[in-house]
Amino acid sequence: MIKEIKIKSALSPSKLPGLDYALNPYRGCGHACAYCYAPGVIHWDKGKWGEVVEVKVNLPRILSKELRTKKKGVVGLGTVTDPYQPVEKKYEITRRCLELLLMHDFPVCIQTKSSLVLRDMDLLKRFSNIEVGLTLTSLDEEVREKLEPGASGTQERLRALSELSKNGVSTWVFLGPMMPYITDAQALVDAISALGPKYVLVDRLRIKDGVWDGVKEFIRVFDPGLLPAYERLFLGGDVAYYNEIFGRITKICKERGLRCEINRL
Ligand code: SF4
Repeated sequence: MIKEIKIKSALSPSKLPGLDYALNPYRGCGHACAYCYAPGVIHWDKGKWGEVVEVKVNLPRILSKELRTKKKGVVGLGTVTDPYQPVEKKYEITRRCLELLLMHDFPVCIQTKSSLVLRDMDLLKRFSNIEVGLTLTSLDEEVREKLEPGASGTQERLRALSELSKNGVSTWVFLGPMMPYITDAQALVDAISALGPKYVLVDRLRIKDGVWDGVKEFIRVFDPGLLPAYERLFLGGDVAYYNEIFGRITKICKERGLRCEINRL
């Protein structure tokens, strides 16, 4: 269900590394990822995550006013929603915000799981300071479909990464969450290393408020045999697994000449 809403402010201060502001064109997200922790962050109470999306229809107008007075800083576009989720095709809130950010020459950092970002190539190419990140959790389409049902397929995301880089737009890749015993890190790094990302940011699966239920459901459907291992890792606090994985990814990236940052927060 799509709901149109009006908001009073556009940019909010961000504590995320490298960002000064967060800008979220939607509340809710049609990508409906099983591991999404945004519902807990925004105190979502509008039904099952993924089934309701609120469209901030007056966001461009409010943003336009704020950009005249706010101190210039890096704007993270989509910190608790995906700015290029399916509803963006119709509403173009993200596109209209980009036009304004470009006009005021604000630096922008985008993170998405959708090839719809390619629609805005004409704008992205004109920014003096912009980075577009594509998120990848697995190259396996069966995993992707069950884990991130509303998002673009893996090959589409790789195509987006390649097209952006070819057009001179600075790109990066978010490898995460690394799904224990499912994500093939070597295959992912092999697939992206020739597509021009400036760096990769690697993250573990984070079990925050409400996330465990979604992950457990995914594992039950995908491979119930993995449930005991997941319980050991996430309920038992086994840290050795990720230490080994992170060490391996760092080594593979180094071999491919790719800068790798591990999110250890
Ligand atoms: S794309 Fe991001 S915000 Fe949207 S459901 Fe997935 S993890 Fe959550």
